[in-house]
Amino acid sequence: MLTVQNLRKQFNSEAGPVTAVSDISFEVPEGVFAAIVGKSGSGKSTLLALLGALDKPSSGTIQVGGQAITALSDRDLIAYRRDRIGFVFQAYNLVPNLTALENVMLPMEFARVEAKTRRARAIGLLAQVGLTEAEHDRKPSRLSGGQQQRVAIARALANRPKLILADEPTGNLDAATGKVIVNLLHSLAREHKTTIIAVTHDLEIARQTDLTFKIADGKLVGKEHNHHPAGAGTSTTTGISATNEVAVAAVPARQSSRL
Ligand code: ADP
Ligand code: MG
Repeated sequence: MLTVQNLRKQFNSEAGPVTAVSDISFEVPEGVFAAIVGKSGSGKSTLLALLGALDKPSSGTIQVGGQAITALSDRDLIAYRRDRIGFVFQAYNLVPNLTALENVMLPMEFARVEAKTRRARAIGLLAQVGLTEAEHDRKPSRLSGGQQQRVAIARALANRPKLILADEPTGNLDAATGKVIVNLLHSLAREHKTTIIAVTHDLEIARQTDLTFKIADGKLVGKEHNHHPAGAGTSTTTGISATNEVAVAAVPARQSSRL
């Protein structure tokens, strides 16, 4: 689904050139949840920005669903980001004066989805991430951190992207809530057959994913397939299991949205 080849990104800082991403190549199959781990300054955010076409590589190629995004024009890149990618950030980045529902509808407005469809899809997504109906009409300041990140995940799924990119999605959450959020991402990845790449420096979180890439000094230094017990999320690169779709449907809304 995602193929990265010989990716390099060099910045020219006052102290001289900095190679933030250095000759990285990897593949992530469809529906797989991958984590990128590495210390602060290792190049994780730069790599994610390249994958999301928020920045251009110095060299190398990125293919998403067979399309070489590194060859797209600026105009096509705008459409790529809007229609194919969902972003989830550490600080949630919800629009403060819009309700949860309006936040989820916003990307669909940009993509010119019909108003009726926007609303219905947003309500469905918010229910799926475990928000109660009353919470749909709340502004972010009246939601907990975990609830805000649920809304951000619903928003990321709004235009049915093929790829979700998350930069430290649990960085502002306590450990228990972080775990719930990662489980939610995992279930949704399976249900929507969305590939997810999450950057984290939390190894506990990384172990919950299917595949972990380790980067150090801009280089890929490790790759690990994570095996999970049956029913708790499985691991193989092809595996989108029916049992997990059942698990998604059973996300206990009232109970878990409190986190
Ligand atoms: P991480 O997300 O793993 O903490 P980053 O991708 O943010 O790492 O940064 C990787 C390296 O690239 C660091 O040395 C950082 O200082 C440098 N860097 C990142 N962005 C820029 C930039 N816009 N200009 C110059 N150097 C940068
Ligand atoms: Mg970073």
